[in-house]
Amino acid sequence: MKGKPFSNSGKFKELVLVRLPLLLMLAMNLLLIAAWWGEHHFMKTLDHEIMDGLAQKVNLTASIIREKLLSGHIDSAVDFCRRFDNRIFRITLIAPHGTVLADTTPGHLAFDNHAGRSEFREAQNGKTGFSRRYSETRKEQMVYYAVPVHTSQGLFVIRFAKEDLPYMKIFPWITAGIILLLVISNVLLGWLQFYLLKKIYLPLVEVGRCADRILDGKTEKRIPVPDSGPVKQLAEMLSGMTERLKKQLSEMKKIESFRSDFIANVSHEVKTPLTCIIGAVETIQEERDLPREQYERLLNILKEQSGRLDALVKDILSLAALENDPERQRLEFLPVDLQEILKSNVQMHRQEAERHGIEIKFNDSEPISVLGDAQLLKQALANLVDNAIKYSGSPDIELSLSRKDDFALISVTDHGCGIPEENQKRIFERFYRVHKERSRALGGTGLGLAIVKHIAQLHGGRAVLNSASGKGCCFQIWLPIPSEGTDCFS
Ligand code: ADP
Repeated sequence: MKGKPFSNSGKFKELVLVRLPLLLMLAMNLLLIAAWWGEHHFMKTLDHEIMDGLAQKVNLTASIIREKLLSGHIDSAVDFCRRFDNRIFRITLIAPHGTVLADTTPGHLAFDNHAGRSEFREAQNGKTGFSRRYSETRKEQMVYYAVPVHTSQGLFVIRFAKEDLPYMKIFPWITAGIILLLVISNVLLGWLQFYLLKKIYLPLVEVGRCADRILDGKTEKRIPVPDSGPVKQLAEMLSGMTERLKKQLSEMKKIESFRSDFIANVSHEVKTPLTCIIGAVETIQEERDLPREQYERLLNILKEQSGRLDALVKDILSLAALENDPERQRLEFLPVDLQEILKSNVQMHRQEAERHGIEIKFNDSEPISVLGDAQLLKQALANLVDNAIKYSGSPDIELSLSRKDDFALISVTDHGCGIPEENQKRIFERFYRVHKERSRALGGTGLGLAIVKHIAQLHGGRAVLNSASGKGCCFQIWLPIPSEGTDCFS
């Protein structure tokens, strides 16, 4: 395309193919010009033959008239001309000043002055004059042959005329046909070349170039879609495909970075308890005569840190289980009485809350059932209440169950420290903590709220936080209530 040497015959073939209309146009023009040239020469040759034939035919007659004129017998010459058989040819005798003296065609004497006729002008110059033109007198194409005769009275012209050969008429038509063909073929092939190049070839090259760049990883590139033309549909299709590909790629990248982040986080979470455990074990091994107090302290560390590891592994396994084949898990869903779940949760946490001086409140509500996994829903609620006990510092925790349109709404509300606005967006992310030290000290894994979110999503709902710093938190789980009459309640 850019004047590079042809690296292979494929490129050359492509170039020839793309410019085929142009090449055809050139060939057609050459052919038509050659045809016109041939026709022109053929016509000229025929013309000469006709004129020569006429000259030979009129020779004898011309010499008779010349004799008469030269001998001063003008009347006799006029008479001869008038009586001549005009089926052989027409004779016009013209006086020195262009006046017609005689004409073999009856009634044509009153003619005009012939001074303007080209053959006459030629004869006046002393030469024999030829011409071919349409005769208004005879209403047909004629050939003229004019012979000059110099007399003492001046220059007489004997003009002979004969109908032209009928096929001579065809030549102007052939010329017109050639010109018409030239114009039509140029317009058509020119348009075809333009269409092929602008509407098909160049858009295709551009699409290919962009697709190449996208394949090279330049994902910011877009496949150009022309406004019209046959490439539009293909370009649209390719554009759709590449967009989908890009999305998949960015999705894969996200998963990849998510996975590596997750591994990095897990390693980080595991490292501290493991270091503590290894340190404690080494101390016990090395210091055989450890004082009882210190020995107890090391055992406590071992217990605490292995508990932390255990909780971490359990939470990771819970998350993995939640992500594993959610469709199949949903098939095993059964009707769950949410009121029951809330009540059992209050019972389960009451003692723990009391130890922290927190009162857990739950006002009976209308019974609401959803389709779900009772164990998972209990786990989600337990995580929320646990957190409220551990982090909020609130004097009370309120549990409530209500119905909002087609959703069951479980709320866990505290009136504690709350979560600042800037942390709220990421609060349901894995390993995201607001109170980092506190969470670690209390054995938190940073996975509790991520598990809550996944459980809500598995049930077709979502987990939401409403909070303001210093004003407590209200965590909500929204679960869809199946419409009456669906199979689940039958
Ligand atoms: P963790 O294992 O640390 O408890 P979670 O995912 O359950 O992890 O909680 C994430 C963080 O959210 C906690 O570390 C804590 O800082 C904050 N948090 C959760 N619930 C509350 C609450 N009711 N009040 C204040 N902060 C909370």
